[in-house]
Amino acid sequence: MIRLKTYVAPRRAARLRFSRENVYLRDDYTCQYCARRFAPKDLTLDHVVPASKSGRKDWTNVVAACRDCNHRKGDRTPLGANMPLLNEPRVPAWLPSLRPTFRMENVPETWEPYLSTGTG
Ligand SMILES: [Zn+2]
Repeated sequence: MIRLKTYVAPRRAARLRFSRENVYLRDDYTCQYCARRFAPKDLTLDHVVPASKSGRKDWTNVVAACRDCNHRKGDRTPLGANMPLLNEPRVPAWLPSLRPTFRMENVPETWEPYLSTGTG
C-alpha cells in the first residue's frame, strides 16, 4: 500500500469525502479492535466516542469494526469497554479512488476491488 503514496499528493486529504467505503479503505478492511481483516459485508462503522455521548461522525471518530467487536463495545468508549484501538483514527492522506484524472488503463490490477465499490 505504501507505494501508492507516490501517486497522490497528501494535501488532497482535506477534500477526502467521508464515507463508509472510504473508512474501510483507510483501515484496510481491518477491524480496529481485534485487528482481523474482514469482507466489507462483515464490517461496520463504529463510533469511537458513541453518538449518544456526542461523538461525531467524521474521520477522527469513526473506525472500521467487525460486527462482533462493535456489538461487544456497544455504547461505550474504547477505554470504557477496555478495547483499545489498533490505530488512532485520522483523516487519511490518500485514497486511490480520489484521483480526479484517473485513467483506467493505468490502474494496477490490485486496485480493481477498490474501484468497483460504491461510495457509500
Ligand atoms: Zn473485531
